[in-house]
Formats: sequence, structure tokens, C-alpha cells
Amino acid sequence: MNIIQHIRKSNIRNTKGCVFNIQKFSIHDGPGIRTTVFLKGCPLRCWWCSNPESIHSKPEIITKFDVCRNCGRCVEVCKHGAISLTEDSSPFNKIKSKSQRTLNRKACNACLSCVDVCPSGALSSAGKDYSANEVLKIIKDDLPFYKNSGGGITISGGEPLYQPDFTLALLKSARKIGIHTALDTSGYADPKAVESILPYVNLFLYDIKHLDSSLHRKYTGVDNTLILNNLYRINGRVEIYLRVPLIPGINDGESHLEEIIALAGKLEIAKVYFMPYHRYGVGKYAGLGRKYLLPDAENIPPEKIEYISELCQSRHLTDYEFSSELFTR
Ligand code: SF4
Ligand code: SF4
Repeated sequence: MNIIQHIRKSNIRNTKGCVFNIQKFSIHDGPGIRTTVFLKGCPLRCWWCSNPESIHSKPEIITKFDVCRNCGRCVEVCKHGAISLTEDSSPFNKIKSKSQRTLNRKACNACLSCVDVCPSGALSSAGKDYSANEVLKIIKDDLPFYKNSGGGITISGGEPLYQPDFTLALLKSARKIGIHTALDTSGYADPKAVESILPYVNLFLYDIKHLDSSLHRKYTGVDNTLILNNLYRINGRVEIYLRVPLIPGINDGESHLEEIIALAGKLEIAKVYFMPYHRYGVGKYAGLGRKYLLPDAENIPPEKIEYISELCQSRHLTDYEFSSELFTR
């Protein structure tokens, strides 16, 4: 049974998916005022990902133990012994007699009971299961804004096609009530899933991270063949904006930028967005117990932006923009 038959068979609006954020009044994820629905789960591991809470497909715990009040409630409710109290042995904390909570992520099964009882915000969660109908109710609140601004909804992530049946259910339900739909994708998806959602997408926001396949694999964990094949697959069938994260020293060299501009010229691309590297997501890594892989990267300097702008103009690429507000992944 393919995805469409499966969705038709089940009640489409009951289809469930894991969402980590629903951002209203978004103005950078497509035209007009939009609601962006961020789904969990991504097959890529980009070194610069600014949404690390999107990577795993299930809900997970975010810790901020520096605001812990040491009430001990989390320890009481945790049936897996995943949270414990340890003495901090740093000289500073010895003077202050301070102790520190620690979370053993291997023991944690993400039941989220500790999040429910924590009074200080030291424990929170990324990801919650929603039905398509629940998301739709939230989206529908802002119908007048979409209509007046030419906006709509954007399904983002993570990789939205990592949950293809939920993404299809959201897109289909939105389109049924006349809402403009955009899909923010890495393009790394089963071509059958791409075909199934295509009739319900008005605009693709399509990431291109590197055109050299081995470098793509090095910096994202997967090669780019599937991504480029899917891009050619949808080309000419739907409006496409290319989104290019500009990562210093990784994909911002002249010859690579020339290749990106040439690719845009070959295809029917409505606009190219360059997304200069930023460090907005770095602080999230510690709270998720993960390591940030670009600790020393610096922002793209203004001269580089100017240079890329001149390059685009000299190659007759007129519809391009820089947006440092966008989350890069
Ligand atoms: S999420 Fe559940 S298993 Fe994990 S630490 Fe909290 S209470 Fe324990
Ligand atoms: S419930 Fe929250 S505030 Fe209380 S000990 Fe656990 S982490 Fe600290």
C-alpha cells in the first residue's frame, strides 16, 4: 500500500506526527505572513545545524540545570533512575557548597514526567505528538492574516519528508481550505514521497548545501545525488526557491558559488536565498547533550556578501536575496 492509499484509508486528520515548534507570524519562510510548523526527524547531520532539537524523530529532554532549584521532584518521578544529584568538584562550587543535577540520556526513555513536575524550567522538552487536525486548528486561527498578506503555512523541520504521511496530511488539509502551502526541505527524501506531496505544495524552499558529493557527505552525513535528482524531478512543476546556507570555509568559495548560480540558471528557480552562517543555535547543543561541530566558525563578513552580490549580478542572476534571519540546517 503506498502512502496516498494509506492516508486515504485512515482518517487523514487523525494522522499523527512529532512537532517541535509551531511558529506564528513567520515572515521568512515564504511569501506573506505564515505559520511555520517544524517537524522532528532529519536524515542529515549538518555541522552547522541551528535546530539541533529537530534532528531526532522522537521527543527529547532539554536541560538547563543552572536554574535548577534542587527540589528533587524529577528524581522522585523518574522510574528509570535517569536523573541524579552529583557534587560539583570545581573549587568555586566547593566554596558555595553547590551540587548539580545530571541526566543520563542512555537511561532516559523520554516519558517527559520530569518535565511536567519541574518548577524552574531546568527541564523542558523538544517535540510533542500532534494530530494533523490539532495542527490545523492552530493554523486556522490566522486565516485572515494569510488572506490579507498572501501568506499561508510552511512545513519545515528537521526534514518534513522524514514524516511523509503526516506532512501529506497537513498539506492536503491546508490546501482543502484554500491555504497556500510551502515545504522547506533538504530534498533528501524518497522520490515516491516527493511525488505524493507535490500536488499539494505551492512552493518548495529547497536547500542546496554543497554541489560536491563527497564534501556534501563529509559535512552533512549523506551525499547529494538523491537531493539533486529530486530537484530535477520537481523542476518546472512547482514554484521553487533555492536556499543556500553560506558556511565559511565549507561552501562559500568562488568556484562553488559559481556552480550554484549556474545550477539556478539551468533550472526554473524563482529565487535564490543565501543564508549567511550564524551561531544562533550553538547554545542549544549543551542542553541536548550534544557537541557542536563548528566551534570556531565566524560570521560571514559584509565584504563577502557584497562579493557574492556582485557575482550574482555579473552572472545575470537577478532574483536573489540574503537572509540572516533563517535557521540554517
Ligand atoms: S523523561 Fe522520563 S525517563 Fe527521562 S529523565 Fe525524565 S522522568 Fe526520567
Ligand atoms: S524538578 Fe527541576 S528544579 Fe527540581 S530538582 Fe529536578 S531539575 Fe531541579
